[in-house]
Amino acid sequence: TTLLEVKNVSKQFGKDTKALSNVTFSVKEGEFVSVIGPSGAGKSTLLRCINRMVDASSGEIIFDDAYVHQLNKKELKKVRTKIGMIFQHYNLVNRLSVIENTLHGRLGYKSTLAGALGLYSEDEKLQAARILQILGLEEQIYKRSDQLSGGQKQRVGIARALIQDPKLLLCDEPIASLDPNSSKIIMDHLRNICTSMGITVVVNLHQVDVALKYSDRIIGVNSGKVVFDGTAKSITSND
Ligand code: ADP
Ligand code: ADP
Repeated sequence: TTLLEVKNVSKQFGKDTKALSNVTFSVKEGEFVSVIGPSGAGKSTLLRCINRMVDASSGEIIFDDAYVHQLNKKELKKVRTKIGMIFQHYNLVNRLSVIENTLHGRLGYKSTLAGALGLYSEDEKLQAARILQILGLEEQIYKRSDQLSGGQKQRVGIARALIQDPKLLLCDEPIASLDPNSSKIIMDHLRNICTSMGITVVVNLHQVDVALKYSDRIIGVNSGKVVFDGTAKSITSND
């Protein structure tokens, strides 16, 4: 079944910047899809259009049977709980602990309410601890997030997304600031989240080798256009 459809999506910034031109593709439930392309290709804008952090100038986005481009604020908020977002720079709240940052995902990522553990039920705290354990962060739970390494911070970013119980994870250059070893750990977790938890993953990457290794499918973007859409196998066998 199709989980996400992006149909003829274009995005214009100002007068001159056409970040996306008629982008069309769809993603099946349970798929692991990489979006690759050079810096400035439009990858980040594309992910942001999917959850409407950025409004597309034209086109349609259908996620889990909802016409995302047509939703009002309240409906959008509900749909967004099903879409977890992961960022290159983690976007954690530095002064908060690992578990507080994780639970922040329960409130929606733009909530200014964060920190007070009293806001959360025992069940929620247990669930946060369980997710942090899966991600290998059980010893860091009460550490301040600014005491973590980059790779650990990104795992907290993943935990914050997972606690929403998402159907889709959108990851915007999740390993671009990490060393190869941490990158592998993050990519292994994302792959495992897809395969074992059945969560669909769409990840922006600029490293083709990483995309080839982890993805079911690769979408190539250049100058705002889809220039390739196929399996990793079809790329390597064409070479
Ligand atoms: P990528 O993620 O592939 O590096 P982006 O989606 O960040 O590409 O950028 C695509 C194009 O859109 C670039 O030319 C970029 O400068 C422009 N762009 C992105 N966000 C904005 C914005 N908020 N305002 C104006 N231009 C933007
Ligand atoms: P980056 O530097 O990685 O591109 P930014 O700090 O510029 O990321 O944030 C990009 C956008 O994401 C901002 O509009 C911000 O409001 C939003 N944002 C910040 N934290 C989160 C989060 N945890 N989940 C979703 N969106 C977030």
